[in-house]
Amino acid sequence: MNYIGAHISSSGGLEKIILRAVQIKATAFSFFTKNQRQWFSPPLVQKTIDCFKDLCIKHAFTPQQILPHSSYLINLGHPIDELLEKSRTSFIDEMIRCNQLGLILLNFHPGSHLNKITEGSCLLRIAKSINIALEKTKNVIAVIENTAGQGTNVGYCFEHLSQIIENVHDKSRVGVCIDTCHLFASGYDLRTEQDCKNTFEKFNNLIGLKYLRGIHLNDSKRKLNSRIDRHESLGLGEIGKLAFRWIIRNKNFYNIPIILETVNPKIWKEEIHWLRSQKKYNQKIFLY
Ligand SMILES: [Zn+2]
Ligand SMILES: [Zn+2]
Repeated sequence: MNYIGAHISSSGGLEKIILRAVQIKATAFSFFTKNQRQWFSPPLVQKTIDCFKDLCIKHAFTPQQILPHSSYLINLGHPIDELLEKSRTSFIDEMIRCNQLGLILLNFHPGSHLNKITEGSCLLRIAKSINIALEKTKNVIAVIENTAGQGTNVGYCFEHLSQIIENVHDKSRVGVCIDTCHLFASGYDLRTEQDCKNTFEKFNNLIGLKYLRGIHLNDSKRKLNSRIDRHESLGLGEIGKLAFRWIIRNKNFYNIPIILETVNPKIWKEEIHWLRSQKKYNQKIFLY
């Protein structure tokens, strides 16, 4: 079963998200658990938690279909101890919020070395941050997103993600989210069926498909290996529609949230419809 949806606005309260998702006929969604440009937000009130959970049940969204996204301020590999500490505290707060909402996944950008430490020590800091967060929380899986490799971000190659996972003690609570725009911008081609196959074979060899907990399905405004993160609507960017059709038809990507973060929310409903329709024309399922 494919779970397909988009990154939904939390404006006006978390209760509003589910109905917005239903409006675009989504079977998956992501959202910010708090204001993504602030370090801390007021705690969730019980009424909001109850309402969110009730609406999820009413509209048949299970925790496997929901992939919350953490704040952009958090840098779990921060080279400066004080800000690393602040990032860890803020991340733990987000893990707790997810657990309160009955959710099991939290997606985050791994971090940046800011030219102050090596990539290697930044990756070690990130793994340690995850270990601390997992020890202090329950149930929620820390889902590392691959990056475009813009600026000093780490996590732009499968080796980075696998190094982080290697150093996480509880492997049952760590996972990966692949953003197709970031993947392409960081040099992994997706333009032909063979490219898709090669890229995900590499993923499977270096990380393992069992760690894949979600996909951000975005086309890219910028060229292969540009290391620039600019999302585009499906089929209107440099990747093209083939990759998205290939992903939708591939059994390896069943039962995980597939989330659009494409640039025009007005066509999300159409994009979701198009993705679903790709299964009807050709029942061929790609498998390795
Ligand atoms: Zn992201
Ligand atoms: Zn992006």
